[in-house]
Amino acid sequence: MWYNGLLDLPVWQLVLVALGLTHVTIVSVTLYLHRHSAHNSLDLNPVLKHFFRFWLWLTTSINTKEWTAIHRKHHAMCETENDPHSPVVRGLKKVVLEGAELYAEAATPETLERYGQRTPEDWVERNLYSRHRTLGIALMAVINLALFGVHGIWIWALQMMWIPVWAAGVINGIGHYFGYRNFECSDNARNIVPLAIFIGGEELHNNHHTYPNSSKLSRRWFEVDIGWGYIRLFQLFGLAKPKGYRPIAHSVPGKLDVDVETVQAIANNRFDIMRQYRKRVMEPVLRQQKHLMEDEIKPRYRQFRKLLSREVTLIKPRDQEQLETLLEKNAVLRQIYEKSHELQALWRRRGVKPQEKLHALMDWCRDAEASGIRYLEDFAAHLKSYALRPM
Ligand SMILES: [Zn+2]
Ligand SMILES: [Zn+2]
Repeated sequence: MWYNGLLDLPVWQLVLVALGLTHVTIVSVTLYLHRHSAHNSLDLNPVLKHFFRFWLWLTTSINTKEWTAIHRKHHAMCETENDPHSPVVRGLKKVVLEGAELYAEAATPETLERYGQRTPEDWVERNLYSRHRTLGIALMAVINLALFGVHGIWIWALQMMWIPVWAAGVINGIGHYFGYRNFECSDNARNIVPLAIFIGGEELHNNHHTYPNSSKLSRRWFEVDIGWGYIRLFQLFGLAKPKGYRPIAHSVPGKLDVDVETVQAIANNRFDIMRQYRKRVMEPVLRQQKHLMEDEIKPRYRQFRKLLSREVTLIKPRDQEQLETLLEKNAVLRQIYEKSHELQALWRRRGVKPQEKLHALMDWCRDAEASGIRYLEDFAAHLKSYALRPM
């Protein structure tokens, strides 16, 4: 007879225990490593923080400084040669299958020095967690064997593969390849699914790359970020304090004038503004034009709908050509396309004085109102209502 451990649990309970253990690891990664350490979007109570650190040492052998540095570099260099794990540059297969190896490769002294600031360097880090990095997972194996007997072996194996598969492979690979985009951030990040429960909220990767300093990763009513649920729960007990999740800009009903504050508000809220431009201007105008020029638009309607609002650096040359052909043939679509780029120039151009930006926005609104395109006129009125404070 096999030795079944001190707890002697039936198999179905062992499965639940294994899923529970790996879930704690996922929560530790998303709350402690990602939202707290890498992005500083969350304050954690020191005891809870240390629990997460200890748990990661015990179940993953991840080093906080290394993980944080590599992740910050990923955001800073996203989808370039220097991005430690971009599937766009390195190929999806490599990132999904060798995600953990890419981390090991990327942990160079220069990267740690440049991106690893504000990570633990205390006694326990130097003498235990960093010095004896694999001791934790060895200890976990012994604990598993003692508690669950032979079943401890597969539970341990599951624990060891959990982060390499889900975080390094799925998030870093799939999250930059497949899924939907709420916002046109400058990299290829995507939301894998709106129900972000399995990987602790990290599935909402397009939202995260758009608002990296927000501790809340869900943005739309149907998106569920379970990590945010834990943050709220810990906050209830005074163990966590989220930062950066509240909107900076507000649409104030009845506000009719453009001022410097409007410029700041829409620049702060730029990704959401462009999303609204897509919904309120591009999509209805494209629908209108579809009836007028069936032959050109109809066969590629869905594709054009995406391309019109896609971040320009992400459009492939062949798609770019098709888009240009369409815009040459249709003056109304060209006009709304050009207006979207003029609006983006407002926050993309560096070193421009606030007053100059204000005049550019006033000109933009005036032209939009005189365009004869109803959706564009309405959008100009909507832009004017923005302020940094709610009513
Ligand atoms: Zn990413
Ligand atoms: Zn991040």
